[in-house]
Amino acid sequence: MDQLKQAQEIFWINPSYKPDWSAGDTGTVHPEQVRQASMRLQRFAPLIMHYFPETEGSNGIIESDLADIPAMQKSLGVIGRVLLKKDSDLAVAGSVKARGGIYEVLKHAEDLALQNGLLSSAEDDYLKLASQEARDFFHTQKVQVGSTGNLGLSIGRSASALGFHAIVHMSADAKQWKKDLLRREGADVQEYAGDYSKAVASGRALSDADPNSYFVDDEHSVNLFLGYAVAAERLKKQLDQKGIAVDEEHPLFVYIPCGVGGAPGGITYGLKLIFGRHVHCFFAEPTQAPCMVLGIASGKHDEISVQEIGLSGMTAADGLAVGRCSGMVSHIMEDVLSGEATVEDERLPVYQKMLWNQEKIFIEPSSCAAFHALAGLFRTEEGQRYIREQNLNEHMNNAVHIVWATGGSLMPMEERHLD
Ligand SMILES: *Cc1c(COP(=O)(O)O)cnc(C)c1O
Repeated sequence: MDQLKQAQEIFWINPSYKPDWSAGDTGTVHPEQVRQASMRLQRFAPLIMHYFPETEGSNGIIESDLADIPAMQKSLGVIGRVLLKKDSDLAVAGSVKARGGIYEVLKHAEDLALQNGLLSSAEDDYLKLASQEARDFFHTQKVQVGSTGNLGLSIGRSASALGFHAIVHMSADAKQWKKDLLRREGADVQEYAGDYSKAVASGRALSDADPNSYFVDDEHSVNLFLGYAVAAERLKKQLDQKGIAVDEEHPLFVYIPCGVGGAPGGITYGLKLIFGRHVHCFFAEPTQAPCMVLGIASGKHDEISVQEIGLSGMTAADGLAVGRCSGMVSHIMEDVLSGEATVEDERLPVYQKMLWNQEKIFIEPSSCAAFHALAGLFRTEEGQRYIREQNLNEHMNNAVHIVWATGGSLMPMEERHLD
């Protein structure tokens, strides 16, 4: 806790980690809901393909590649096999938010369509939702969200495409290009002088006062969480296709950048359902915004903010600039998260340039935090202790490490600063 307060980098092992956690232990989400979310995305695939032709190659399923990064692995000096999960390239949103955000918009559209007779059942033809009648109906409905950027892009683009009146409430520090892109696609962007929490509070109040409006709640949304969790079964398929086993002798390590927690939490939940104690999940957060590790380690969850321990909450990793974690997620993660690394902002462009130079892959600064968690497992005493305590030492040559790249592809060239 002292190190956290002093904004020092830490590699933290979760003392409450339960390797044999079983999914029945959470009161908020249920494994069956993940399966239903997956089927829902399947039902919507033709409609996604209709609105976003770039998804034709994958039949309307928005998914990213899992790629070896051998040169980068060599530079990092890591044994085993290192793969990059390229959610940085996900269609529509260009970030991991394509998973949770678009899922939540589709779920809401489905609920409305079933209630209002636009679909007769879940077996109906979902392309009906592209009819003029359906679009006219959706246009009477608002979808609102507060965002520093990527969630707004995901919700704004997908909701606008379906015909909803999308309103994105953004803090002043949100990037101009994200606001421009959203406005070009028909979303309504409201700007706030204060920080992110003001934008969220205002968006929520405006939406709650309007019976025809739906608010996407980054901190409390089960639907966002479920959309993220579906990533795990997709990843399992990709590992199978590569002939990669995950078992006692072949541990899987996954490193994911964490903001409010929905994306990394949902993905981790999904992975734990499939791989159990053979998958080891670590989050990464900026030293100035370590809200998840603060919440779990202090036991206070969402009842404490990073500002309360003297940190600024400000970081160049804009997707991770969150001062208070989602309590829903932190409670679920308490038993399943293996640990976490915090990282100083200055390191992010170093990893970013390394990946660009070695692999010609571009990811945004927030994504790069995940590399620091991978490095930390090998380079810190705590990381080595984890390996020892979990009896993994003799299996590290067979280990697979997945660095989750959470965003990047929509970033304009002039924003990338790679030289
Ligand atoms: C949102 C985001 C994250 C973290 O997701 P949370 O759900 O906020 O924890 C990580 N990386 C990028 C690029 C993001 O946009």
